[in-house]
Amino acid sequence: MSRGTLLEVRPAALAANAREARRRAGGARVYAMVKANAYGHGMALAAEAFAPHVDGFGVAVLDEAQALRALGVQAPVMLLEGPFDAAELVQACALKLELVIHSLWQVALLEAAPQPVTVWLKLDTGMHRVGLPLDDVDPALARLQALPGVQLAGLMTHFACADEPRDPLTAPQRAHLTAVAARHHLPWTAANSAALCRYPDTHGALVRPGIMLYGGSPLGGTPAAEVGLAVTQRLSARLIAINPVPRGDSVGYGASWVAERDSRIGVVAIGYGDGYPRHAPAGTPVAVAGQRTGLAGRVSMDMLTIDLTDLPRVQVGDEVELWGDTVPVDEVAKACGTISYELFCQITTRVVRRVENR
Ligand SMILES: *Cc1c(COP(=O)(O)O)cnc(C)c1O
Repeated sequence: MSRGTLLEVRPAALAANAREARRRAGGARVYAMVKANAYGHGMALAAEAFAPHVDGFGVAVLDEAQALRALGVQAPVMLLEGPFDAAELVQACALKLELVIHSLWQVALLEAAPQPVTVWLKLDTGMHRVGLPLDDVDPALARLQALPGVQLAGLMTHFACADEPRDPLTAPQRAHLTAVAARHHLPWTAANSAALCRYPDTHGALVRPGIMLYGGSPLGGTPAAEVGLAVTQRLSARLIAINPVPRGDSVGYGASWVAERDSRIGVVAIGYGDGYPRHAPAGTPVAVAGQRTGLAGRVSMDMLTIDLTDLPRVQVGDEVELWGDTVPVDEVAKACGTISYELFCQITTRVVRRVENR
C-alpha cells in the first residue's frame, strides 16, 4: 500500500470556470490570473486549459511570465506588480509583457531606459496597498505619454472589499477610477473575481478573475456551486490506522481533544508537511466514501486524526477527502479562519499530483 496522498487537478473544470468567467464578463476582455503556480494548480496545465477561453494572463513575478512564454504562450501577459528593477524592465520588455506601473520610481525606470512597452498605470483608489495616490496620477500620465516607446493600455485599480457581504468601498473606488479614466479618455480595468461576479458596472475594458477559475467561491458566504463554478481540485489521503479511544482519553499533541464517548479514531496519511493547515480545529470537515465527519485532535506533520465513531463500516485503506467534491474547499478554509486561496497555495511538493481527465 503506497501512502496515497493525492492532489487531483481537473483541466476540464478549469476550462469550464474560464467559460463561466467569460460569460459573466460580457464584452470585457478576460485575463486569467495564473500567479503562484496558478493558485497551486500547476501553471502549465492551467494556462493550457484557460487559453481557448481568455484573452491573456496575469502573473505576479517575472519568473512566472518567463515560464508562460517558455510554454509557448503568445497571448498578452500582464506583470501585476511591474518590474522590480531596471534589469527586470529589460527582460520584461523582451518578453513583451504588459507592465503594471504602480509607483513613480517605476515611471523613472521607464524614462531611464525607454523601450517599446505596453503599460497599465495603477491607481490607489482606497485599498492603500500599491497604486499611485490620486494627486500623482496626472503628472505620471504626462511623463508616460511623453515617452515615445510607451504604449498606455489604460488605468487599473484593485478592490479591497468586493467579496465582503457588506461592502463600503467598491463603489467609491470605482467612482475614483472612472472619473480619472473619463478625464483622460482611457480604458480601465478593476474587477477581480468577486467584482466580476457581483458588479457588472466594474467590468470596464478588462476583467482579472483568479479564484473563481479555480473553483473557490469569490463571494463570502455563497457556495461556489451556487456561483456556477466547478471543482478544480480534490485533495485526498488514506486511512492508515483505526483505533478505539475510550471515553475520557485524549488524542494527539497537547491532548487537546478528549473523547466524550467511546470513540473510533482514524489516522489519515496527510499533515501540515503536505500543506494541510495545522491550525485546522477539531470538527473541520472531511469525507470518507461520500460521508462527512470531522477532525479529532491536532494536525501533525505527516498525519491527522478523524472521528469515525459514526462511520462503523469504514476500514483501513479507505480514502479520505480533505476537500473536493463532498467537502467544498471554502468550508475547510472557513473552519481554519482563512481563504481557499491560501489552502490552494500551501500544498507542498510531497503530495503526488494527478491530472484527472473528466
Ligand atoms: C490576484 C489578482 C487578481 C485576482 O483576484 P481574485 O480574487 O483571485 O479573483 C486580480 N487582480 C490583481 C491585481 C491580482 O493581483
